[in-house]
Amino acid sequence: MHNNKIPPIVAVGTVAYDTVESPFGKAEHVLGGSGMYFAAAASILSPVNLVAVVGEDFSQESRDEMKNPNLDLGGMATHPGKTFSWGGTYRNDINIRDTDFTELGVIENWVPEVPEAYRACKTVCLANIDPPAQLEVLKAIEDPGLVVLDTMNLWIDVARDSLLEVIGLTDVLILNDEEARQLTGELNLPTAIEKIQDLGPSIVVVKKGEHGAMLAQQGEDGNEIFSLPGLPLKTVCDPTGAGDCFAGGFVGYIQRSGISNCRSNDTLRTAVAYGSAAASFCCEDFSARRLRGLTIDDLEQRVDSFRRLVDF
Ligand code: AMP
Repeated sequence: MHNNKIPPIVAVGTVAYDTVESPFGKAEHVLGGSGMYFAAAASILSPVNLVAVVGEDFSQESRDEMKNPNLDLGGMATHPGKTFSWGGTYRNDINIRDTDFTELGVIENWVPEVPEAYRACKTVCLANIDPPAQLEVLKAIEDPGLVVLDTMNLWIDVARDSLLEVIGLTDVLILNDEEARQLTGELNLPTAIEKIQDLGPSIVVVKKGEHGAMLAQQGEDGNEIFSLPGLPLKTVCDPTGAGDCFAGGFVGYIQRSGISNCRSNDTLRTAVAYGSAAASFCCEDFSARRLRGLTIDDLEQRVDSFRRLVDF
């Protein structure tokens, strides 16, 4: 149970064992997964209830590594079989990653069970996982006030119909530039964003890796656009999970500001800065190691670095 005045976010996503190689080293069988990264970042700012599944191989040590007072793991089920597992290698240009393997393990055909206590949550984050699982969680929430969705190229390829169904129920879609083009078949980014808005979400955030992120919010006079560059980081060790941490910082900040403000353009702009701050920390070490023990003050300091970066 959370003893905090901020109401919890409910999130679904993968909890994984990752093997990652970058020009700066290799991390084998480390904690990963979109849900794990999302929760690690969002829980710095707000309580999080995580719906996920792991296999019987998931160790107590890994569970302890995930634990923090702002994270409720009562919705993380253990099923017979192996924990979702993913491997990737970054090239010398760290923006380019090759996926070495994806072993679905227990997430294959997993039907999420949302604990009764989570169903009254207003803010729902559907982190990257197969769209039918995202849909199942969303349907279990009694009266969602803000639905944020993150996805990836794999699901656009193999589960397009159910993904479109989830997108139709979403308020904020977070995706990267390549995925925006792949989803819409449109090469021009502002036009791709408009096509995404026609599918449902009035707010779209496009992540552009080290080049930052762009926010578009549909208004009466067209789109209100905001763009934040990436912070020039000296230590980029492993960008795995940066996108999920972006979503965590973004949604965590909105939740902390009060969900009644969730459509305020000022709140959304600042949320992009918090998402970018969380993502930048994530890149500095393997797995979510750099996120552990971070405080709101640490995030705020980094948000100030973003402010200085764009102030002229
Ligand atoms: P990102 O770097 O934002 O793409 O996130 C990478 C994380 O997502 C890794 O920790 C993986 O375990 C996890 N992941 C990789 N592929 C998938 C997938 N198809 N569905 C959900 N999570 C995935």
